[in-house]
Amino acid sequence: MTNMRKGDHRLIQELNRSKVLNHIRREGPISRIALAKQNGISPSTVASAVQELIKEGYVSEIGPGRSSGGRKPILLRFNPDHHHLIAVAITNSRMLLARMNLEARVLAKAEYPISGVKGEAVAEFLVEHLDRFLTEDGVQSTCIGISVTVPGIVQSDEGIVLYNTKLGMNRVPLKRMLESRYGMKVWLENDMNSVVLAERQFGKYAYANLIYISIGDGLGSGILINETLLHGKHGGAGEFGHTSVNRGGVRCECGNVGCLDSYISWMAVYSRILTALTSGRTTQINELTGGDYTRIVPEVYKEALRRGDRLALDINEEVADHLGAAIVNLINMFNPEALVLGGEMGRDNEALLEKVRLYINKHAMPILREDLVFGLTSLGEDDKLIGAAAVLLQDLFGFSLMES
Ligand SMILES: [Zn+2]
Repeated sequence: MTNMRKGDHRLIQELNRSKVLNHIRREGPISRIALAKQNGISPSTVASAVQELIKEGYVSEIGPGRSSGGRKPILLRFNPDHHHLIAVAITNSRMLLARMNLEARVLAKAEYPISGVKGEAVAEFLVEHLDRFLTEDGVQSTCIGISVTVPGIVQSDEGIVLYNTKLGMNRVPLKRMLESRYGMKVWLENDMNSVVLAERQFGKYAYANLIYISIGDGLGSGILINETLLHGKHGGAGEFGHTSVNRGGVRCECGNVGCLDSYISWMAVYSRILTALTSGRTTQINELTGGDYTRIVPEVYKEALRRGDRLALDINEEVADHLGAAIVNLINMFNPEALVLGGEMGRDNEALLEKVRLYINKHAMPILREDLVFGLTSLGEDDKLIGAAAVLLQDLFGFSLMES
């Protein structure tokens, strides 16, 4: 201990503090003495950590618990509503802002369509709405930070959006821009990476080796290996949509040909529906939309699937074949414990899940698929906001469902 520098000491204090806070969050209401015993930390260290946490409002005392003889110990509980965070989820078509509590629950939210806004203007668009959101809420004093998620290649350490073709973003230093404007800490992460963390922390997939696959406007994945996000050198790991499935296929915006995205994303499915409709094929999609092509959205397609519509089932079969093959590659590459399907096309899509499951059972290596968990996203429509919250909470408090 005597050789320990001051910085090391502070680090250990912080680690103990976050250990104590996490334990109260997971196991509370709990007494100080139980915290000390269960974490192998001295009672005096626990007492000083708890004192700080109470002073800052993260923890409250809720009165005496049961005694096992002697004085009844005071129980402590996590206080998720004393502070809050701002979550921002930028997608290629809209921007969501939310105020959330420390259990990643949405307290207030707003949504703005992004149309025709490109490049640096996306950052200006964000700032404009964030300004209003922060003043309307009048909540800056209890805000612990802002967490932003964006699709594309994101250098999260530096907080730079390196590359997003649809939004025309190229090396936009979003974190620095927001930090200097609002004077509070800002986190920036790729949207899929944020969602895989959220499935683990706040959803029903508490696995250390977890892959999240999103099918929507585009196609992406977030990969968690031994509880750590796989970023790669530039933050580009997990670009699942741009894996090659056809060497002679259509040209993709990424510069390659035959990318998976071109075969199974919503745009691919939508154009297949349109082709069928214009060639006069009968489908329930016509009835569901009153013949209005602009009303054909993923929800309509999924409803047609549920009703057993032949066209929808045919498309589902093709999508499942492509997706199944790509997922078998992921299983063989990463040997995950669980795989989750999400995005607008994946959410609540039992028909797709079942078809892909059949494919996996037929084609993945038996030893790797034996106890593999394969399911649908458990986060609902606020998935990306919960994702943004998960990034911040993981970094600030090391929140997790599992004991480290
Ligand atoms: Zn591509």
